[in-house]
Amino acid sequence: MRPATRVELSARAAAWLEKNQWQLIEDMEINIHERWGARRKTMNKNGVVQALRHMAGPSFRCMYCGDSEGCDVEHYYPKAQPAWRDRVFEWRNFIWVCAPCNRLKNANFRTDAVGNGILLNPVNDKVWDFFDYVDESGYLVPRFDLTPENADRAFFTSSEKVTRLTHDVVCEGRQRSARGIRRAMQRYESSPRSEGDVEEFLLHVMDAGHPELCEWFFAGQGSRENPYRAFVAHHRGLIDELRQRLNRSYPGIW
Ligand SMILES: [Zn+2]
Repeated sequence: MRPATRVELSARAAAWLEKNQWQLIEDMEINIHERWGARRKTMNKNGVVQALRHMAGPSFRCMYCGDSEGCDVEHYYPKAQPAWRDRVFEWRNFIWVCAPCNRLKNANFRTDAVGNGILLNPVNDKVWDFFDYVDESGYLVPRFDLTPENADRAFFTSSEKVTRLTHDVVCEGRQRSARGIRRAMQRYESSPRSEGDVEEFLLHVMDAGHPELCEWFFAGQGSRENPYRAFVAHHRGLIDELRQRLNRSYPGIW
């Protein structure tokens, strides 16, 4: 799961969504799927899709699995269910995801007793508040210290039937990213430390397919163990710079 911050829509795009939402509420005869299908095409032009892709960061990866390139406007509260007719064109309900995650999630959406989604939302929920990263397998496992409600959310979200978060191919990609981060650390440690070495370190780490791991290794649970612990202790300025760069490219990632 790739943390993201919701950006502000242009006034034009916001007005366009509002108008469409209003029409759906005013006229209950309008079929949601037909209307969405017709309007989805124009979203590429009016700034909604661009804003979502900007939130997803370079290469526009899926906000759920962080692996495949996103291509769909996903409704956190599914448009397929009449209960959420009032959220079909709601900007805050949109997420950028890959087609497989979209398909999995659509058939699997649950709410709690007060109607909030159980599924974690990459824009509202912080991945490392709910999961531990296991380097041996590339898995994300629910943290041991969660409240029963949050444990329920973490287990639901990481279920193979709901998102690709723990699918083998995604876990392997996470391990590859972790190895890339470690290689960049080793290279930096063994270099004479010129200005160019800083840039090279930042470039290699930023290039990792799962940049959300940086927070885990350099500030989260991962940073309690070596080699990360020692690296953070010795290169605080570098880590600060990395964090700033990451957040510029991937708004809200760390
Ligand atoms: Zn995905």
